[in-house]
Amino acid sequence: MNAELYSPRSASEAVSLKTPSAAFLAGGTEILRHGSSVHADRLIMLKNTEGLKGITKEQDQTVKIGAMTTFAEALRSSAVPEYFRKAIRYMASGTKRNMATIGGNIALIRDDSYLAAVLIAAHAKLVLLMADGERGRDGAFAMERKELVCIRRYLLEPDLYRNALILSVLLREDVKVVSKRYANTAESHSFLTAAMGIVDGKVRIGVSVKNSGVFFLKELSEEMNDSADPGKILADFADSWNGLDIPDDIFGSQAYKRYLLGVTLTDLYRSLQEDRGEEVSDV
Ligand SMILES: Cc1cc2nc3c(=O)[nH]c(=O)nc-3n(C[C@H](O)[C@H](O)[C@H](O)COP(=O)(O)OP(=O)(O)OC[C@H]3O[C@@H](n4cnc5c(N)ncnc54)[C@H](O)[C@@H]3O)c2cc1C
Repeated sequence: MNAELYSPRSASEAVSLKTPSAAFLAGGTEILRHGSSVHADRLIMLKNTEGLKGITKEQDQTVKIGAMTTFAEALRSSAVPEYFRKAIRYMASGTKRNMATIGGNIALIRDDSYLAAVLIAAHAKLVLLMADGERGRDGAFAMERKELVCIRRYLLEPDLYRNALILSVLLREDVKVVSKRYANTAESHSFLTAAMGIVDGKVRIGVSVKNSGVFFLKELSEEMNDSADPGKILADFADSWNGLDIPDDIFGSQAYKRYLLGVTLTDLYRSLQEDRGEEVSDV
C-alpha cells in the first residue's frame, strides 16, 4: 500500500486527520495484510495516541476497554466479563491475538465477526470521537464531539460513523450473555455466531452470518420478552423461521444454516435459563 503515514499524539489530532479515504492503523492485521479489504491513501497510526489503551472498572457495573487494547491484553484481564473473554477466544491464532485490537475488529464490521453478536446481545456501547464542519487553517475541524453509541447502531448504520474514532467499548457486568460460534476449523472464518443475552430482564439476540451480515434479531427478542412462554416462541421460530437472507454457499445450504441457527438459539436460551436457576419450558 502506498500511503502517507501520520502518528498523532492525541485522539483529537487523530480524528482531525481522518478523511473518507484515510484509515486508522491499529494492530494492522487487516490493513497491512496482502489482499486487505481496506484501501487508504493515508494511514493514521494509533500506537502513540494517548488515551486509547487500558481496561478500567467504571461506576454502574461497567467495564471500559480502550480501543487499542489487543485481544491478548483483554483476555489476560480479570476485569473483562467472562462472556466477552469467550468471544475473544473465538480468535484462535495467538499471533493475531497479540496484534489485533478490539477497536480494529469492531470497526471492520465483518459478517464473520468474532465480537459483534456478543456485543449486540450484551447491549454494549461505544465511546466515539467525531469531527465535523469546515476545516480551519490548522487543518482541524471546527467541531469535535464525543458520542456514546449503542453497538447495534454502529454496526447496522455504518455510514453514520465512517470517520469516527472508537475510543473505547463499554461492557456491562450485570448482564448474562451466552454465545456459540461455528467455523470449519478453529482458525477458519466463522460462518455463524449466535449470542443471546439477558439485559435488564429482557432477552437480546445478536447474530452474524458469513456472506449475509450482522443482525440484531429485534422482533424475535421482543416476541420472547412479551410472551409468557418464550421457549415456545423459540421452538416455533426454529421450525418456521424465514427471516434473514442467508445464501447457499461453501459453508452449507440456506436450510442447513437456518436449522443450525434455530437449534443454537434454543440451546442458548436453555443454558441462560439454567444459569438463572429457572425452570425451563419444554423447548
Ligand atoms: C486469516 C485471517 C482470518 C480472520 N478471520 C476473522 C474472523 O473469522 N472473524 C473476525 O472478526 N475477524 C477475522 N479476521 C480479522 C482480524 O480479526 C482483524 O484483522 C483484526 O481484528 C483487526 O484489528 P486490527 O487492530 O489489526 O485492525 P487494523 O488492521 O489496524 O484496522 C482495521 C480497520 O479498523 C479501523 N480501525 C482500527 N482502529 C480503529 C478505531 N479505534 N476506531 C475506528 N476505526 C478503527 C481501521 O480504519 C481499519 O479500517 C481475520 C484476519 C485474518 C488475517
